[in-house]
Amino acid sequence: MLSLADGREQQLDTLYSAPSSVVRSELARELGVHVLRNGDVQVDRRTMGTSLSGLYAIGDVVNGLSQISVAAGHAAVAATAIHHRLRKAALHTRQPP
Ligand SMILES: Cc1cc2nc3c(=O)[nH]c(=O)nc-3n(C[C@H](O)[C@H](O)[C@H](O)COP(=O)(O)OP(=O)(O)OC[C@H]3O[C@@H](n4cnc5c(N)ncnc54)[C@H](O)[C@@H]3O)c2cc1C
Repeated sequence: MLSLADGREQQLDTLYSAPSSVVRSELARELGVHVLRNGDVQVDRRTMGTSLSGLYAIGDVVNGLSQISVAAGHAAVAATAIHHRLRKAALHTRQPP
């Protein structure tokens, strides 16, 4: 039995709490990354790269569905983009034998 502040009572089988949450993007903002008005970091969805070259953002700090599986998907996209970027940079700096 759930007793509400106004005196009403409700019979429930299950009760889920829904705590509010805020996006912590202050650091990104301080670094000069483009952050949306609601605090979400803006990214290129193809790479998860932010407006600051070489900086990537994933998970809840990026707007979308806030779930673990989504954050893991973001991470896979970012890791692949970083791999390609580093490989390209290595090819450019490779010294001839
Ligand atoms: C109560 C609750 C229940 C949930 N249940 C589910 C569920 O059942 N299934 C599901 O898929 N998802 C669930 N989620 C959502 C899930 O937890 C998030 O989507 C997921 O954790 C996002 O991962 P993240 O790495 O983006 O952020 P987080 O897991 O929040 O990690 C961010 C980390 O950065 C740290 N941090 C923040 N600012 C700084 C700073 N300035 N310097 C250093 N560290 C910093 C934080 O302390 C935190 O450890 C739930 C969330 C909540 C709040």
